[in-house]
Amino acid sequence: MSIIRVHDKQFEPYLTASEINARIQALAKQLDTDYAGKKPLFIAILNGSFIFAADLFKEVSIDAEICFIKLASYKGTKSSGQVITAIGLDTDLYDRHVVILEDIVDTGKTLSEFLPQLHHQQPASLKIVALLHKPSATVFPIPIDYLGFAIPNKFVVGYGLDYDGLGRNIREIYKLVE
Ligand code: 5GP
Repeated sequence: MSIIRVHDKQFEPYLTASEINARIQALAKQLDTDYAGKKPLFIAILNGSFIFAADLFKEVSIDAEICFIKLASYKGTKSSGQVITAIGLDTDLYDRHVVILEDIVDTGKTLSEFLPQLHHQQPASLKIVALLHKPSATVFPIPIDYLGFAIPNKFVVGYGLDYDGLGRNIREIYKLVE
């Protein structure tokens, strides 16, 4: 692996495909144990999590469901600014064991605004799986129950994550050269 270019920027290797795969297998094993007999509903947040969600879900061997949603933010009428809505969430969450699959948690803003909407539907439990987390970028602390990797506060691409639309199909994760 060497330096790559996406649009106008250079990125250097950060996590190899086999490192990512090993973490995913460990996460799946943990989920198999914790959710045995609970028929969890995984909710993957598009676009960034599509590869992570697919790879993780293939490794989960208990009975489980998965659905995919997209979060859209629009300017609310309140002074608080952005309002986040879920597109494609058509499953009733009441009394379900819900597991959110997120590619990366940066400031925590997206999930901190979205999670209360899910709690509102009274799931039996609600946990978060994130492949990547930038602890030093936290502005809105949210509990990450299952974490792939804690990473520095650097912009990353690959493995589903894009830079301005490109880079999602790179098998490894690269970080911005600064
Ligand atoms: P948050 O609301 O936690 O600040 O941001 C979450 C979203 O920002 C992620 O789902 C992702 O779309 C985007 N994001 C944050 N950091 C990165 C990064 O390093 N690389 C890419 N490609 N997207 C990021």
